[in-house]
Amino acid sequence: MATVYTSSEHCPMCSAAHGWVGLGRIVYASSSKQLVSWLDEMGLPPGRVRTLAIEEVIRDTPVDGPAPEFAEELRALQRRYRGFTD
Ligand SMILES: [Zn+2]
Repeated sequence: MATVYTSSEHCPMCSAAHGWVGLGRIVYASSSKQLVSWLDEMGLPPGRVRTLAIEEVIRDTPVDGPAPEFAEELRALQRRYRGFTD
């Protein structure tokens, strides 16, 4: 069974696809909840699709994340992606 490693937690669509095809464990570095918090901090609205934790979308799949040791680096990447230069 495949383990999927990803920088960001799956969106609800990807979680559902992951579950439907029966992939295995998911390991992610930053959560959807963190992303929404970082967007808010940048004064930006959340995306149109609501965030849901992977476990709210699929069951019977081991999920590990977020990884706190990568939080600050990923927050900085999200800011840079959106044009913030600090
Ligand atoms: Zn997705």
